[in-house]
Amino acid sequence: MQEYDVIIIGAGHNGLVCAAYLLKAGYSVLLLEKRSVPGGAATTEECLPQQAPGFKFNLCAIDHEFIHLGPVVQELELEKYGLKYLECDPVVFCPHPDGKYFLAHKSLERTCAEIARYNQRDAEKYAEFTQYWQRVLGAMIPMFNAPPKSILDILGNYDITKIKDLISVIGSPNKTLDFIRNMLTSAEDLLNEWFDEEFLKAPLARLASELGAPPSQKTIAIGAIMMAMRHNPGMARPRGGTGALVQALVNLVTSKGGIILTDCQVKKVLIDEGRAVGVQLANGNEYRAKHGVISNIDAKRLFLQLIDKSDVDAADPDLRERLERRIVNNNETILKIDLALEEVPRFERYAHKDEYLIGSVLIADSVAHVEQAHNKCTLGEIPDSDPSMYVVVPTVLDPSMAPPDKHTVWIEFFAPYQIAGAEGTGLNGTGWTEELKNKVADKVVDKLAEYAPNLKNSIIARRVESPAELAERLGAYKGNYYHIDMSLDQMVFFRPLPEIANYKTPIENLFLTGAGTHPGGSISGMPGRNCARIFLQSKHPIAQTLKDARDSIKSTVGSVFGINK
Ligand SMILES: Cc1cc2nc3c(=O)[nH]c(=O)nc-3n(C[C@H](O)[C@H](O)[C@H](O)COP(=O)(O)OP(=O)(O)OC[C@H]3O[C@@H](n4cnc5c(N)ncnc54)[C@H](O)[C@@H]3O)c2cc1C
Repeated sequence: MQEYDVIIIGAGHNGLVCAAYLLKAGYSVLLLEKRSVPGGAATTEECLPQQAPGFKFNLCAIDHEFIHLGPVVQELELEKYGLKYLECDPVVFCPHPDGKYFLAHKSLERTCAEIARYNQRDAEKYAEFTQYWQRVLGAMIPMFNAPPKSILDILGNYDITKIKDLISVIGSPNKTLDFIRNMLTSAEDLLNEWFDEEFLKAPLARLASELGAPPSQKTIAIGAIMMAMRHNPGMARPRGGTGALVQALVNLVTSKGGIILTDCQVKKVLIDEGRAVGVQLANGNEYRAKHGVISNIDAKRLFLQLIDKSDVDAADPDLRERLERRIVNNNETILKIDLALEEVPRFERYAHKDEYLIGSVLIADSVAHVEQAHNKCTLGEIPDSDPSMYVVVPTVLDPSMAPPDKHTVWIEFFAPYQIAGAEGTGLNGTGWTEELKNKVADKVVDKLAEYAPNLKNSIIARRVESPAELAERLGAYKGNYYHIDMSLDQMVFFRPLPEIANYKTPIENLFLTGAGTHPGGSISGMPGRNCARIFLQSKHPIAQTLKDARDSIKSTVGSVFGINK
């Protein structure tokens, strides 16, 4: 039986990031991936080889913001392994039914000038609002880039700018109380407090709701950072698609001797006297892990599906029930549409310029429109009578993703996993069938064509993936691409549960990473890096803590004296 120092279950981007850090620290690593390609929700695939050869599609993630809030790309020197980020500017285009449109550039000043064409007050408020949330972000970045219960790691991440941000957000009792109130309120309330114009509030609501909750939901106003980030540090996409990030990680991992085996579904984690010692695959093969097993899949799947009940109960008799009943995965996921096109969709009524399509195109007619897009999913209804959507035309920024002069369109449409009243029918009892997903996709495309009338005639081929199919591909509960919901009660040291929030579990040598751990889903690599830190600290408590402290002091001193790059 083959033995490695570390085995990682799943080769999503977080599993790969974690592997890279452990390989660099001298451990041998085996990654086992159930699909035929690594990357999880971060792949780029030529998924229509017959109808649209040469067209490459991001099957899931496309816009990268969070990864630029951490050091993963630089620390792992991913450019050396083939990664090249292309910056988006403009970052958002949202046409409004009344003929106005929100065009956000990377530059805050230019964006304000766009808003001022319609409303001077909102333009001024937008600058203030964005600067506030950028300071909140600055104050939080040190927490994102450290294990949530590792105070020293967190403190070490504060440089002078971030300390200033922190003080400006919670530097007096009233500022602190205002900040807490902002955290407790909803995106909708916050937007109404700041702005008058619907053409501005609607796209901001849509982006805030990317955290997976309607704009009216309390405790989720933090979603405001989703727009603030697009101004600074900005939004970018890997040349060649999100899969190019994965490819760079694969190049790094394999160049350091890491092994990635695809088509290898882990069926069971092997436990011996309370320690994780290896895994068994669905095909019966077994691999041994000398120092640890790390799960890139969430705690619920890991403990409830891959580990014998008696082993979990022996480690923590309450854990199974708490995972089963306390963790929340709401009913909302994505129906994904990919189009191969003859030409770029043209938004003629909105002074179309191809460059408007470099960033994300949001179809969000009003805050109420965004509200129904999410609320209906919760009730098991499909919000397709008037679809709201997030659209990207990746080929405007990166023509390498399609044959010359051709284009692709990426559409994210929120949809329920379980359709109410259709229980027990369709794929895995969700109610989703081929016919239904195509009917819904037709309505989504029809709505987009109201804005870009040339769209339908330019379609060469189309791929539609229903929520049930997406869930099956990712292996995620109810198709939750954040593994578990991103609500405040499941963030930071609550993610996924307080007792397993620091990447360690009650089973010795069994660790957690991935979107279901702090700081959560999206393309960030942070859960992978943070988990690697905890793993190394647990194996070399003194040496690693000293090294981390030295690195932190160096970077803080560097920031004070301006000697960091
Ligand atoms: C349609 C869509 C659009 C998105 N858009 C964006 C975006 O624009 N920007 C952004 O930042 N984020 C976006 N996201 C979210 C983001 O893609 C994910 O949160 C992120 O990729 C999760 O990465 P991960 O490595 O933690 O987990 P995953 O990518 O889920 O990786 C887990 C891996 O484990 C594998 N696996 C599962 N079970 C087993 C098993 N038993 N044995 C072996 N392997 C197993 C899976 O196949 C997968 O490869 C999007 C997600 C979706 C679905």
